[in-house]
Amino acid sequence: MHLLYLDDSGSVKNPADRHIILAGVSVFERVPHWLSRALDKVAREVWPDSASGLEFRGVDILSGRKQWRKVKPDKRVAAYRAALEILAHSNQVRLFGAAIHKASVSPYDPMEFAFEQISNRFDRMLGRLHRAGDTQCGLVVLDKSSYETSLQALAVNFRTDGHRWGQTHNLSEVPLFVDSKATRMIQYADLIAHAVRRYYEKGDATFLDIIQTKFDASGGVLHSLVHYTPGGARCNCVSCRQRAGH
Ligand SMILES: [Zn+2]
Repeated sequence: MHLLYLDDSGSVKNPADRHIILAGVSVFERVPHWLSRALDKVAREVWPDSASGLEFRGVDILSGRKQWRKVKPDKRVAAYRAALEILAHSNQVRLFGAAIHKASVSPYDPMEFAFEQISNRFDRMLGRLHRAGDTQCGLVVLDKSSYETSLQALAVNFRTDGHRWGQTHNLSEVPLFVDSKATRMIQYADLIAHAVRRYYEKGDATFLDIIQTKFDASGGVLHSLVHYTPGGARCNCVSCRQRAGH
């Protein structure tokens, strides 16, 4: 089984956020154990006394909130980078991300739109593996606290209605909601979502650059980083640039 851990970034209601982001990491079922241990190791370097309680969230790390309050800024940035480097150096991860400009899908809920885009692309990735002789089903895992209302409601309908692009064929269950404090994998998803957010909202590629090659691609085509912009808008981001080239 392939698991896809997702987290959101950006608020649907806050007008200061132009985009909402849904992003994360897909791995084979045995991989989370090793990735979690690797993040535990980074946590021990930051906070040796209580490493297991140190939660990695992009916004907390970069703005020095919660447990990160007493950690020096350069050490916080180094920890964020170290966490993303784990993903960058693994050949067993595939990243997924959607940046949805809210105005571009109005009046639809942009988070639902993002979820449908990503689950569709995850499903197609599993379809490609199946055709290559590796048949696996997929399960989407979401942070319990993330966008609880609309994604939870969507998850219930997902099983019965499929989604906007038709039924998914390879997803085994309704999405699962878990507590991010207890799951290093959801923390990775948050770090990815926040890196995507900084790129699209602030033009800062520092963190996305580290993991960019890990988005799912085949035949030179990037399938798993999606940017929706208002019709006619020109965009030179890594996703739009490539789409324009094909
Ligand atoms: Zn773009």
